[in-house]
Amino acid sequence: MVTGKTKNLAVIGFPVEHSLSPAMQNAAITAAGVDYSYIAVPIAPQDLPAAVAGFKAMRFAGFNVTIPHKQTIMPLLDDIDEAAKIIGAVNTVVNDGGKLKGYNTDALGFIGAFAQKNKSPHGKNAAILGAGGAARAIVHALTKAGANRVTIGARNANKAEALANVFAARADVQAFSWDAAEFSSALREADIIVNATPLGMAPNTDEAPPVDWERIDNAALVYDIIYTPAKTKFLAGAEKCGHETINGEYMLAAQGAAAFKLWTGKEADLSVMQKALRASLSSR
Ligand code: NAP
Repeated sequence: MVTGKTKNLAVIGFPVEHSLSPAMQNAAITAAGVDYSYIAVPIAPQDLPAAVAGFKAMRFAGFNVTIPHKQTIMPLLDDIDEAAKIIGAVNTVVNDGGKLKGYNTDALGFIGAFAQKNKSPHGKNAAILGAGGAARAIVHALTKAGANRVTIGARNANKAEALANVFAARADVQAFSWDAAEFSSALREADIIVNATPLGMAPNTDEAPPVDWERIDNAALVYDIIYTPAKTKFLAGAEKCGHETINGEYMLAAQGAAAFKLWTGKEADLSVMQKALRASLSSR
């Protein structure tokens, strides 16, 4: 029950009506028996500075941040966690006694799925398709987890190279056009292959990034971070050739669980969050 003592949480974005976070976070709140409440708040880009000041003034315990505010919120915060600085985007804000600190939990969400499958990226070769915001969190996660080599392939080789350069000092990160022979070799040598583009996301379910599954070792784990549909054309192609696969549902729930822990100090019940997520998706 919401009372005068209930601590407030939110997700901000524009638009934000379709966010799955209120269902996921309120399910986790109920399961943990903590006195919090979570709402969705649409905030237009020009209103972001006033909104951030407002959340502070209203003593919200924290909030999630989604498109289009993940980068533009950074200069408005009092402090930013190291991982969020490297990733260059904030998706979670914690109000620590009146100081707003930004975090990015996408990397934790992405990497958590490996443990769930009793696997680890440590010492493995990974190939990532796409060079946007999610790819940046994924390259951070994989290099931090001790991947041997990460190769980024994108339609725009310059963007892939710019992303690789962010991490080149700390790990073996290479970048190519995804049409290049070097990227085809990286795909063949990969233990982990990740789609970090929106290709295949509903309603464009007949799209997929270019991978010739017949030429890839079927021991490679194939991960698509898209969660609508649950099985993209990319994952269907991989499964047909015998690959083990992971979709984006786990990453979505686990990034939310990491945010929940930052706000409440408690572990979220991930299975409850996944169930709420699936129920919201199937009612659409
Ligand atoms: P983003 O920053 O816009 O980056 C998208 C990347 O895909 C860029 O490299 C972009 O290339 C490429 N791309 C887009 N459309 C393309 C096309 N038609 N052909 C070839 N390449 C294309 O997006 P993002 O934030 O990284 O998100 C990517 C996907 O991940 C989305 O589907 C998003 O829903 C999903 N996601 C899932 C989770 C989760 O929790 N499961 C979390 C974050 C994101 P250009 O730079 O050349 O445009």
